[in-house]
Amino acid sequence: MSERDREHHRERNPEQYQHRARKRFGQNFLHDAGVIDRILRAIRPREGERLLEIGPGQGALTEGLLSSGAQLDVIELDKDLVPILQHQFAGHGHFNLHQGDALKFDFNTLGAAPRSLRVVGNLPYNISTPLIFHLLSHAALIRDMHFMLQKEVVERLAAGPGGGDWGRLSIMVQYHCRVEHLFNVGPGAFNPPPKVESAIVRLVPHTTLPHPAKDHRLLERVVREAFNQRRKTLRNALKALLGADQIEAAGVDGSLRPEQLDLAAFVRLADSLAQPTNA
Ligand code: SAM
Repeated sequence: MSERDREHHRERNPEQYQHRARKRFGQNFLHDAGVIDRILRAIRPREGERLLEIGPGQGALTEGLLSSGAQLDVIELDKDLVPILQHQFAGHGHFNLHQGDALKFDFNTLGAAPRSLRVVGNLPYNISTPLIFHLLSHAALIRDMHFMLQKEVVERLAAGPGGGDWGRLSIMVQYHCRVEHLFNVGPGAFNPPPKVESAIVRLVPHTTLPHPAKDHRLLERVVREAFNQRRKTLRNALKALLGADQIEAAGVDGSLRPEQLDLAAFVRLADSLAQPTNA
């Protein structure tokens, strides 16, 4: 059989082929039925809802999501998984597969109503942070997100000020979302097992931002600059952006370290960089 014939045969008879997990796609497939069930119970999908699964893989979560009667779109990068997923789920009226890179996907094309989209994914760990930022740029579309991530990343997402986990990721995600660290999952739940512990996190975009910044990009700039030099005092870390008097005028003690400041204080610093608007 030529390579091409083999490919056609594989497409038509996916059930005869065993998919080998690929490292470069971050493939660690869930196989523990207890963990899968616990994740599905945390999500509680309902008939008529709009769900989006990122990286369905071999469908470990997909089955349970679809059986709720919800409308499910999935985005999978690995072309070899497409026939397997189509074979398993295409008969389902509510299933829609998009082959491609979730990092480049325009979520507006899904035609979901504002605040309706429920995003789910056992995410490839190498793309989890950029993907969360990409999704947050569509926060107005999203009702909630449930992700399996490295436990260490979930701890940073859910951290509060004052500790080593509090940083750019915690601040920028908590600017947009309420964060809940739901539960941890050990490596044995996956095939192949990852080297690290994992955890499930729930992110719920705020309906009204608790600390809106005048310009969101300035907040990103201040936070990035501050945490690039997290051991320095704020006065020194932010020297290129703000003078000591501006920091003080924002009600912030310049002798503190960046990790001691809460989100509201970072927003005040960012606002003091914003051009005054002509009233
Ligand atoms: N959901 C499945 C499970 O729980 O068993 C698979 C999880 S596996 C950790 C991550 C999945 O994301 C893989 O199927 C991988 O091919 C897919 N993936 C990797 N990078 C992706 C990307 N940029 N966009 C969409 N899917 C991606």
